[in-house]
Amino acid sequence: MPERIEVDTVIVGAGLAGLTAARDLVAAGRDVVVLEARDRVGGRTLNHALSDGTVVEVGGQWIGPTQLRMAKLVADLGLETFATYGEGEHVLRFGTSLARYRGAIPRISPVVLADMGQAQARFDRLAQRVPLEAPWAADRAEAWDSQTFATWIRRNVRTAKGRALFDLFAEGVFAAEPGDFSLLHALFYTHSGGGIDMLAGTRGGAQQDRFVGGSQLVALGLAEQLGDRVRLGAPVRRIDHRDAGVTVLADGILATGRDVVVAVPPTLAARMLYEPALPGYRDQLTQRVPAGSVIKCNVVYDAPFWRDDGLTGQATGDRGPVKVTFDNSPPSGTPGVLLGFLEGEHARRLNRFAPAERREAVIGSLVDYFGPQARSPIEYVELDWSEEEWTRGCYGAHFPTGVWTQYGPALRASIGHIHWAGAETATVWNGYMDGAVQSGERAAAEILNP
Ligand SMILES: Cc1cc2nc3c(=O)[nH]c(=O)nc-3n(C[C@H](O)[C@H](O)[C@H](O)COP(=O)(O)OP(=O)(O)OC[C@H]3O[C@@H](n4cnc5c(N)ncnc54)[C@H](O)[C@@H]3O)c2cc1C
Repeated sequence: MPERIEVDTVIVGAGLAGLTAARDLVAAGRDVVVLEARDRVGGRTLNHALSDGTVVEVGGQWIGPTQLRMAKLVADLGLETFATYGEGEHVLRFGTSLARYRGAIPRISPVVLADMGQAQARFDRLAQRVPLEAPWAADRAEAWDSQTFATWIRRNVRTAKGRALFDLFAEGVFAAEPGDFSLLHALFYTHSGGGIDMLAGTRGGAQQDRFVGGSQLVALGLAEQLGDRVRLGAPVRRIDHRDAGVTVLADGILATGRDVVVAVPPTLAARMLYEPALPGYRDQLTQRVPAGSVIKCNVVYDAPFWRDDGLTGQATGDRGPVKVTFDNSPPSGTPGVLLGFLEGEHARRLNRFAPAERREAVIGSLVDYFGPQARSPIEYVELDWSEEEWTRGCYGAHFPTGVWTQYGPALRASIGHIHWAGAETATVWNGYMDGAVQSGERAAAEILNP
């Protein structure tokens, strides 16, 4: 017989969204239980201890300006952040040619720079016109939602290198190819994060700061405050919902309450059974919002050798398979850690490689950017998020053509006593940790102020 628990609100998922919803409901005097499938909290944030004990993140890690909810959590939980290493020059590789540059503007031909500049200004202007609460209500929503981001790039970026840089933006920020999602989604997401420079930037952008001890400390801190209200190893299989309330069946637990907050990515929300079945409109939405594809690779060296060569450790290239790197060393600088992302089609392709073959391909890219010293790491840690049963891809979900305009209103609209949370439902910093927190706050507010 499953253990029976009676509360006011049942929360599914102990990621940042579910934990935030629980925090706010408890603060308002409500009883909650948080049912988490994994044997840990934090969802898409996850710390990993290297063999010498140094913590690196294998999931979400950076926070940046305007992410005020995360900044408040850092302060409330007494955590510390530090700046992403950025002293020296970055590396840009087109084909086999390697350029080093300082600051935000790469040393490439003025023609390409002008092309990029005009396209970025145009794109950011369009993004501002997408209402964050209702992207489907944008003045040109139909036109923008019936073309892919790839179509827009082809029509608006004239040079091959300019197009390659926009492709990099798509892969780096959406973990998908520009043909995978609609222009309206690209505009919404960019507006939601504050523009291309904010999304792609390190200093002054979303990759500005890191957590001392790793970002999972935020979820761990929230969970500690919730105590035994958080139940691990309890995957939710079924939600019965009636006018009188909800019954939520997890492995080993049957929880009843007035409301349920489903704080998991849309794809996984669709893998639970609902009784009665959800309206077709909602189900069809969740059939159409896939998660991106990312394999995050931390490659560890005795020391950050690239710093001695005057490099920041930040590299981008048009070839891959690793197209973006960062210096991910701890605050002490030892060991040296290079972080390489496999994103979009590269993550999908290398997912099918044997582990040793994939490691070789990743290290090969680092050698291309940083020279032969990159050939001999002392440790290698990767996580392919598509393989994670309780995530199935990241960073967040992307919306293909036609989805925002035809199904958008189903994303957040509660159904009876079922409320939806998760980074994918956020209006600001959608897909990011800050957006997850916003979504949890919003779901709690829906319950507290019906
Ligand atoms: C590799 C990677 C890099 C990223 N980089 C950044 C970054 O630098 N900065 C940033 O802000 N964001 C980043 N993100 C995104 C960020 O981590 C997420 O947006 C955020 O953590 C999502 O929180 P969430 O609570 O909405 O969802 P999740 O963290 O996915 O939480 C959902 C929880 O629900 C659980 N669950 C799922 N199904 C069930 C079920 N049936 N029953 C019970 N529990 C269930 C899951 O186990 C999980 O714990 C990154 C993500 C990844 C994976």
